[in-house]
Amino acid sequence: MCLFCKIINREIPSNAVAENEEFYAFHDINPKAPVHVLIIPKTHYDSFDDIPSDAMGKMATFMQEVARELGINQSGYRIISNIGEDGGQEVKHLHFHLLGGAKLHWGHLADSDPKDFF
Ligand code: 5GP
Ligand code: ZN
Repeated sequence: MCLFCKIINREIPSNAVAENEEFYAFHDINPKAPVHVLIIPKTHYDSFDDIPSDAMGKMATFMQEVARELGINQSGYRIISNIGEDGGQEVKHLHFHLLGGAKLHWGHLADSDPKDFF
């Protein structure tokens, strides 16, 4: 079972933000912005490349709700999904990074010092 499937099953602890039957949002263990939440489907897809459009539509609504609950929908935020080798994906379970809480510079990359980007 993959790391994020174990997080969904509560075999590995995480800091929850929001949850429903199909999706889970939790704080990233290594935040790159004042708000850095990971949003995942409870169904395992290896990456964004594998999710069907109906599930993606529901996931988009869930992500909007999470941004609203975190109070960053007015100030703005960024959603990123790394896909596969060239995308720099480390965990092979589809996830969206929801980043916000400060003005993010374009070029905010995972291997950079986050302090350089807001
Ligand atoms: P990727 O590089 O695959 O797009 O992003 C994986 C993300 O998962 C990284 O931002 C990393 O900090 C986060 N991460 C990895 N392991 C864990 C964990 O055990 N718990 C939490 N909350 N986040 C994790
Ligand atoms: Zn998984």
